[in-house]
Formats: sequence, structure tokens, C-alpha cells
Amino acid sequence: MHAEPRIWSYAATLLGSPILLKLFHDDPAVARRTFRLIKQLENLLTVNRTPSQVMDINLAAGRHPVTVSAPVFALIARAQAASLRPDSLFNFAIGPLVKRWKIGFRGDSVPPAAEIAALLPLTDPQRVVLDAASHTVWLPQAGMALDLGAIAKGYIADRVRDDLRQQQVDRALINLGGNVHTLGAGSDAGWSIGLKTPFAGPETLIGALQVRDRSVVTSGIYERWFEQDGRLWHHILDPKTGYPLDNELLSVTVISADSIDGDIWTTLLYGMGVERGLAALAQEPALEAIFVTRDRRVIPSSQRHYTFTLLDDSWQWLPVGY
Ligand code: ADP
Ligand code: MG
Repeated sequence: MHAEPRIWSYAATLLGSPILLKLFHDDPAVARRTFRLIKQLENLLTVNRTPSQVMDINLAAGRHPVTVSAPVFALIARAQAASLRPDSLFNFAIGPLVKRWKIGFRGDSVPPAAEIAALLPLTDPQRVVLDAASHTVWLPQAGMALDLGAIAKGYIADRVRDDLRQQQVDRALINLGGNVHTLGAGSDAGWSIGLKTPFAGPETLIGALQVRDRSVVTSGIYERWFEQDGRLWHHILDPKTGYPLDNELLSVTVISADSIDGDIWTTLLYGMGVERGLAALAQEPALEAIFVTRDRRVIPSSQRHYTFTLLDDSWQWLPVGY
């Protein structure tokens, strides 16, 4: 037996989440630079305060197009493309509904049905006008609003990975609260990443994934929610109805090279459910997913770039169909 390599951990609270950076050498300068980068990117993309490029777009709704930086424009174009896929659950123009529900923020409550019905027409992703030549984004009606909450962490995780590589860091893990990105391997087995038990304590795990040089993104209905009228209302909204989407799933985890793909696809797959999700993934060889269902099944689409250890056998690990 050889000794486990020593790991240094650095923590911060950013993006409304606890952020964790793990390195193989003590390097507070790298940690500071990483947290500063996350803060800068959060400030570009947030819809909760100014100044932010996305906030500028929202504040100009119904008034004028807004010029944004090239990377922000590229991210918004990705978000629109994901939103315009047939039957997509992903909708980057869902801002008015997210703001009204306030799920995970103070003052969350179930809005009256008439209010939801009135907001739905403001969330049509087709109506958002992007001009690639001038990098402008234009919300043609007052009250429209972009929300990049389902894609921002993935984008930021990739930028952190790139920045760490540029500093010659070849082994690291960054956890942005649900979005984990890894460089190299944490041990011979890779980095170990917990698959959380829905609605249990943060340390309670269904199992653990071992990966190297991969992103692992989980989107679950247990992450942010409130209770009212004996029901649980969570933060992944169905753009067709304006209400939280309820299906057989508790969470979806995507394993991919880039975290932005993981972030987009957790949302897309959550909307598809297990059967359609597995069929869609059969066409996407670069992506793998693990579905966690209400009836305690844990279903992987494939297992090319990770290994999985089940830690709680009250859940069924069902590697079917490949
Ligand atoms: P988290 O890591 O916070 O769970 P997700 O990637 O699951 O984030 O995205 C959820 C967030 O995306 C919500 O908090 C909201 O801001 C936004 N959102 C909610 N429903 C949708 C939707 N149908 N399409 C796109 N974004 C959404
Ligand atoms: Mg997401």
C-alpha cells in the first residue's frame, strides 16, 4: 500500500453556493485567482443584480438591443440553440417565471394561475433576437427576461478548468455546487464524486463516481424547493405550463468533457425522462448520464468514462440497454 497523496482544499461562497477547489499542492494564490475568476464571470451573467451584461439585456427589454462581449454572446447563442430544440425543457427566456416563483429565494410562493398564464407568452425563446455580426441581444417586449441559471455554472466551470491548465495545474477538482469539474486524476482510481441521495443530508450518498478529466453535473429537484399546500415546488420549471416539471425523475447527472454540455443536458434529459433520454443519448456518444428515479432506480446510459460504486443498496443500480 502506498500513502494517499495529500490534497489541499479551499472553500468560498459564490454563485449562491459553497464552492470547493482541491489541489495537490498548497497554493493559496491559485485559489485566490480561481475564486476571483468565478466572481468576475458571475458578475457578467447574473440576473439578480447590476452591473451584469445579462441584466443589461433584461433591463432594456422592449426598449433597445444590447451589445454584449463575444464570450457572453456565444453563451447566449448556445442557450438559445438548446431552447429551440424540438420539445426542449430548456428555455433561456424563462426569466419572468423564475422571477415570479422566486424558488430558493425569500418570498417564494405558488403564483395565482392567471399570473402564470399571463407570463407564459413573455417566455417564448424564438422571440429573442440575436445578431451575430454586432453581438447584440434584443428582447422585443417589456417584461421579457433571460435566465442563464441552467447553463452559467457549466460555462464557468469550463473557464476555471482552462485557467487552471494555463497555470500548469494538471490535477485539480472544482465543485461549483452541483457542477464538478476535474483535471487529471485525484488518485489511481480517479476523482471520487458523490451521487447524492435526494432529500437527504448533504453527506448521504447513493453511490460514488470515479472520473478523470471529466465534468460531472447533477440537476435535481431536491436542490431548491419549498412546500405549500402539502406539495413540494422545485426550481426546474416546465416552460409549457409555467409550473415545476414533475415526472419519474429525482435527478439527472451528466458526465462529459465540457461542463457546459453537462449543464444543458441535465435540463434537457430531465425533461425527456428515462426512456426518451436514453434514446437521445444513444445519438450523443460524447455524453453519458445517470438517471435517479422516484422508485429508487439508478439508471446509467453507458459507462465509458467513469466507474460507479453503489453505496446504498436500498437503491437499484440498473446498467441496462448497453
Ligand atoms: P442548479 O445547479 O441550480 O440546480 P440547474 O442547472 O438545474 O441549476 O438549473 C436550474 C435553474 O435554471 C433555475 O434555478 C432557474 O434559474 C433556471 N431554470 C428553471 N427552469 C428552467 C428551464 N426550464 N429552462 C432553463 N432554465 C431554467
Ligand atoms: Mg443545468
